[in-house]
Amino acid sequence: MTEAELLARHRAVLPNWLALYYQEPIEIVRAHGRHVTDSQGRTYLDFFAGILTNAIGYGIAEISDAVRSQLDTGVMHTSTLYLIRRQVELAERIAELSGIPDAKVFFTSSGTEANETALMLATQYRRSNQILALRNSYHGRAFATVGITGNRGWSATSLSPVRVSHVHGGYRYRGPFAGWSDADYIAACVQDLRDVLQTTTSGDVAALIAEPIQGVGGFNVPPDGLFAAFKEVLDEYGILLISDEVQTGWGRTGEHFWGIGAHGVTPDAMTFAKGLGNGLAIGGVVARGELMDCLTANSISTFGGNPLATAGAAATLDYLLDHDLQGNAAKLGDRLLAGLREIGARTDVVGDVRGKGLMIGIELVEPGGSDPSPATASAVLEHTRERGLLVGKGGLHNNVIRLAPPMTLTGEEAEQALDVLGESIAAVGKGHT
Ligand code: PLP
Repeated sequence: MTEAELLARHRAVLPNWLALYYQEPIEIVRAHGRHVTDSQGRTYLDFFAGILTNAIGYGIAEISDAVRSQLDTGVMHTSTLYLIRRQVELAERIAELSGIPDAKVFFTSSGTEANETALMLATQYRRSNQILALRNSYHGRAFATVGITGNRGWSATSLSPVRVSHVHGGYRYRGPFAGWSDADYIAACVQDLRDVLQTTTSGDVAALIAEPIQGVGGFNVPPDGLFAAFKEVLDEYGILLISDEVQTGWGRTGEHFWGIGAHGVTPDAMTFAKGLGNGLAIGGVVARGELMDCLTANSISTFGGNPLATAGAAATLDYLLDHDLQGNAAKLGDRLLAGLREIGARTDVVGDVRGKGLMIGIELVEPGGSDPSPATASAVLEHTRERGLLVGKGGLHNNVIRLAPPMTLTGEEAEQALDVLGESIAAVGKGHT
């Protein structure tokens, strides 16, 4: 069966709104290291890692062995009605890594469920259904999470009744504070937070939820310290801070194990998913014990933290820490950023290059101007695929190329990707001499 035939069958039975990449979508059938192979036998260097999920790459023996030994017990699933040793052990490790005092962990099977849980805890704890979120944010695709998402590309058709107010604080390339210094930007965002609290809420807000670096929104990096400045205001009102670490956790940002680490503040809760299972479905919330224990009605996630997923997650965590992949993300992230800035300076279609560690965004603009150019981003995506490199796309205007390779990336692979990106961007833009 050709990919075109599979695409026709896909379109017939899967929803129209399910996002697919490429004019001729590919089917990945094999993978090893940082490389994936499609059903037509073409191999690609993967710079999007299953949307930041394959944190340490494909075909890692330690992960396969851990999952296989769990499978060999015959126990794939028991539900959380019974004790799960691996779940307890993993929760202990994550609680400690979180830095949150008296932390407790609840496991889910996705980032969406993790955020739904965090919202449920915060609204119960504070007895308020008012939530603050950032403009340009993305927090998931269920009723509450899509309702607080600040990106209309994903939330426009939502009829969610959650009471959300959006504040500035993620995206610096456009908007009223574009080009401002870090200190001025932080001061302006803090003022905006105060204004929004006083004008659009009763003041009695449950939580502010934020991605330390916005993922779907285009890898937008706020100035370090922004969330500490926010926390001072939140504390005046008793509002909780939830850090959505679904993309930024596990050392991917290079500098810190959690994205919020750059801000010198301890959140009340963090949510996580994606990289932890290296492809297995696992997510969760780590929160102050008092907050976690505030629910009085029964609650369960049938699949959350199942024996198979927790076995893979524990092995992933071991691998990440034993091989200092956070350090590798910092080193190669710096090299990629420098190389991309050189590429950007040679063309008239790159408006901004930004990121931290192995989360890097390239914002594409109309030639010679600054208007967002989604068509240029789509063209770059096609060119890179033709040259054997898979990258991501995103941003409020869908004009940002997103790079997030497995954190086991090598220096040689980073150079290969830079070569391909340089050629692909040159192919769509006008060069400068
Ligand atoms: N939060 C953030 C920051 C995300 O990027 C995503 C997914 O992209 C989610 C939550 C939702 O996670 P999931 O797709 O696993 O439900």
